[in-house]
Amino acid sequence: MLFNELGLSAEILRAVGEQGYDTPTPIQAQAIPHVLAGRDLEGLAQTGTGKTAAFVLPILHRLMSTALNPSQSKIAPRVLVLVPTRELAAQVLESVKVYGKHTGLKSLAVFGGVSIVPQVGALRRGIDILVATPGRLLDHMGNRNVDLGKIQTLVLDEADRMFDMGFINDIRKIIAKCPKDRQTLLFSATFAPEVRDLAHAVLRNPALVEVARRNAPAEMVSQSVIRCDQDKKKDLLLHLFEQHGWHQTLIFCRTKHGADALAKKLEQSGVKTAALHGNKTQGARTRALADFKSGRLAALVATDIAARGIDIDSLPRVVNFELPHVPEDYIHRIGRTGRAGSSGEALSFVSLDERIQLRDIERLLKRELDSSVMPGFEPQQTRPTPKVATPVRRSSPSRNGEKPRSSPAGRSHPPRAGHAPRSGGGKPAGATYHSGQRQR
Ligand code: AMP
Repeated sequence: MLFNELGLSAEILRAVGEQGYDTPTPIQAQAIPHVLAGRDLEGLAQTGTGKTAAFVLPILHRLMSTALNPSQSKIAPRVLVLVPTRELAAQVLESVKVYGKHTGLKSLAVFGGVSIVPQVGALRRGIDILVATPGRLLDHMGNRNVDLGKIQTLVLDEADRMFDMGFINDIRKIIAKCPKDRQTLLFSATFAPEVRDLAHAVLRNPALVEVARRNAPAEMVSQSVIRCDQDKKKDLLLHLFEQHGWHQTLIFCRTKHGADALAKKLEQSGVKTAALHGNKTQGARTRALADFKSGRLAALVATDIAARGIDIDSLPRVVNFELPHVPEDYIHRIGRTGRAGSSGEALSFVSLDERIQLRDIERLLKRELDSSVMPGFEPQQTRPTPKVATPVRRSSPSRNGEKPRSSPAGRSHPPRAGHAPRSGGGKPAGATYHSGQRQR
């Protein structure tokens, strides 16, 4: 199928063509006809699948084809896109502007961390599409800067993240101010029970569009683990930067402090780096992202929340400097790479203390990850592998109802040819590969 078979207006097709896209991604091919027909939609899709254009394109088309009521208040937008983070708000707005550049429609993003004054001015001048994070939108609603009474289409993007970040009450307040007969589109990477409940409450007879297996990472991402002691991780990372000349590497830390410390160390060692986390000003975050996207920075060290929605074409690599505590965050993290058809690499540094997190992630993935050690960085802290497979001790309830697994004896994963820390295909030349000694 081609974009020009979807019934989108010439102005929109022109902008899509200018981006170099002629074929819709699966979520676009499935979702666009429903949205054009005015139906509600429940979309199970991660970032990286093309989901933004899946809702932006048909929304632009519908706005172009429905004339403005001349009596309509200027401060009443017709489309509201609610997103969990500032970065995602900025990126959705960018998509709206790119795809809508020949439509004459007006759009704006409102989010916290920046002055409210220019936002008020822009709202008063009148806009068609408002992209917003919940907190700042509620501020504007409280000050009567915006009226949601004329919303025709409401989009809830990354609904699972809205819950994770504690926005659900804000979301409910906002939805209550939108007209009941609106169209609603809800997107989520996972359909946790609370997301399902929200979908039942706000969607009317929705079309269901699902493009990824539940909790499945992008197919194009090769994932592997390097076992390493926690206190050697910085040196290991530097070694890999030096050895492979890495560029555009997104590195995840669990804490803001950890992200700052690592960014400092990399920068001091000559790797152009910035840290991205919630304590940075909006200006610093925007600058860091722009520098990283343009390739001026080789490394961006981020925390989970700050990295939500980072959208970089062909990001080659994600490094989990520390594993996340919540296994679903691993999926979100590695979803930054291997997007829209390009391949990517996700490398996790795992210390002995992180074996429980690794086990939970592997359960969620329903597979074991390739695991190796780097010569010179072999873990000093080791645990003997039990000769007889025994059930793994559980520290937390299983998230997906799977039974605890034991490591199958003698199982080995062939290393991926061209994988960065190993040279060449076949048995890795530089790394010791312990298929029978998995750290669990
Ligand atoms: P998203 O899932 O919306 O974050 O989009 C992921 C990436 O895919 C973005 O960089 C888009 O520019 C890109 N993209 C969106 N639609 C297409 C398409 N039809 N063909 C190729 N790339 C696309």
